[in-house]
Amino acid sequence: MEKATENASKYYSFNSERIVLKEEVTPFAEIWKCPQSGAQSLHAKILFKPGDIISSIGARNYVKKPNYLSVQVGEERHILLDPVFLQYINHSCDPNTHFDTVNMQVVCLKEIGVGEQMTFFYPSTEWSMAQSFDCLCDSVNCLKTIQGAKHLPSEVLEKYQFSNHILNRF
Ligand SMILES: [Zn+2]
Repeated sequence: MEKATENASKYYSFNSERIVLKEEVTPFAEIWKCPQSGAQSLHAKILFKPGDIISSIGARNYVKKPNYLSVQVGEERHILLDPVFLQYINHSCDPNTHFDTVNMQVVCLKEIGVGEQMTFFYPSTEWSMAQSFDCLCDSVNCLKTIQGAKHLPSEVLEKYQFSNHILNRF
């Protein structure tokens, strides 16, 4: 069923002296894959400005319990993303996109240049994550361990934009 993936163009490219496998998944973004680590990320193919709507968010399925691919859109609602490539938007403690789960849109928070990785702040939608992980985002204010909004120290809450279903629980 994943025609978009089958027809996508894949090519190798050098990035800071490393080979990266790139796959165009839509005219405005491509997935980059590091053949060594297997790490995958979504990168802009065009310039985005704050406030730009990058993509609509749809649900290709609902899951009862959160997993490492799901996004929480309500107190008891977790979706698998449509388009699928949105799941390659990785977490950052200094994100450049926001998942607006009311209007169901990915919105640009900070300018994203061509080739730049798109990121979002996982706890902005996730109350309590299925799997916590150690963040390696390298931002000055990196929170180190990411496990969901429930576990965030109160002093960082005002720095981020959160979904309504998260704000309602604070
Ligand atoms: Zn971080």
